[in-house]
Amino acid sequence: MRIVDVCEVTKPISSPIRNAYIDFSRMTASLVAVVTDVVRDGRRVVGYGFNSNGRYGQGGLIRERFRERLLEADPASVRDDAGDNLDPHKLWAVMMRNEKPGGHGERSVAVGTLDMAIWDATAKIAGKPLFRLLAERKGREADPRVFVYAAGGYYYPGKDDTALRAEMRSYLDRGYTVVKMKIGGAPIDEDRRRIEAVLAEIDGRARLAVDANGRFDLETGIAYAKMLRQYPLFWYEEVGDPLDYALQAALSEFYPGPMATGENLFSHQDARNLLRYGGMRPDRDWLQFDCALSYGLVEYLRTLDVLHQFGWSPSRCIPHGGHQMSLNIAAGLGLGGNESYPDLFQPYGGFPDEVTVEDGHIVMPELPGIGFEGKSELIAVMRALAE
Ligand SMILES: [Mg+2]
Repeated sequence: MRIVDVCEVTKPISSPIRNAYIDFSRMTASLVAVVTDVVRDGRRVVGYGFNSNGRYGQGGLIRERFRERLLEADPASVRDDAGDNLDPHKLWAVMMRNEKPGGHGERSVAVGTLDMAIWDATAKIAGKPLFRLLAERKGREADPRVFVYAAGGYYYPGKDDTALRAEMRSYLDRGYTVVKMKIGGAPIDEDRRRIEAVLAEIDGRARLAVDANGRFDLETGIAYAKMLRQYPLFWYEEVGDPLDYALQAALSEFYPGPMATGENLFSHQDARNLLRYGGMRPDRDWLQFDCALSYGLVEYLRTLDVLHQFGWSPSRCIPHGGHQMSLNIAAGLGLGGNESYPDLFQPYGGFPDEVTVEDGHIVMPELPGIGFEGKSELIAVMRALAE
């Protein structure tokens, strides 16, 4: 039982939208396949992975460093203790050999993408949905029902309040109970008008979260906090630079409601610094670390250990990214839910075809691995890479 090949291709996931910081007109993502020599149900087991939107494809790093290390590893040294499956933790250590600590830039995205494929293969070899495998290993009960919220409300050319309201209404019509919109890409008075338009549209039948995408300095973040705290928002997200923990801590003095951040922190050390210095409040705030950008699930398990040390429940985590990997972690390890982009980043994001959102929740199907085989458009692209 061994890994026989690792394939990578960079795919466009471009879109005319923008948030307060970047536009997505040239956005790409890496799609990877970890090919094993194991056969299940008459088919070679191939694990698949991709990186979340917002960071670009990582083909160079994958081809020049991480692929080679996986293929060069002695197969016996990366099996689990029983010897009949891959060990994602040992494979992670192989990928990170000769990598200095700190400086978690693009490297964490490349490793996170491969780690997703390794866990997909591992769960397929075990013949189980990943969320069941994770729950079993943790000695807990899986809960296949997962909270999801609809992220959208981007800025794009020609979009007025009518279009924004129609977009948010469409999320309610599709079963969502929390919707999210971008702020900070327009003057504050214009953002206030957009927020009031959306609140009027959803009319108490859903909650609204807002996301500044790390755009604000302290002064602007506080000015927005004073404006936003007049409304019953679900959360105020990523106010300032992701690594400016003092800014985050200062904001909590001006914003009593829930805040959320973490999608641009890429290691358990950075997560720990946020909890140490960011003034985050475990009774109301939300943590959005995304394993597909931050060294994968092996690292995310370390992050969950950090949370535990600091008195945080995994239920305060609602990861960024809208992919099925985080849905599995949520269902298997008891996270608070997952992001969803109902109209964006296809075919990578979203749910298996038969899954629908009801009362703000989905129910995980019982598919081996991460569940990509249940999403026909996605699995077609994946199989074109490696099968
Ligand atoms: Mg965000």
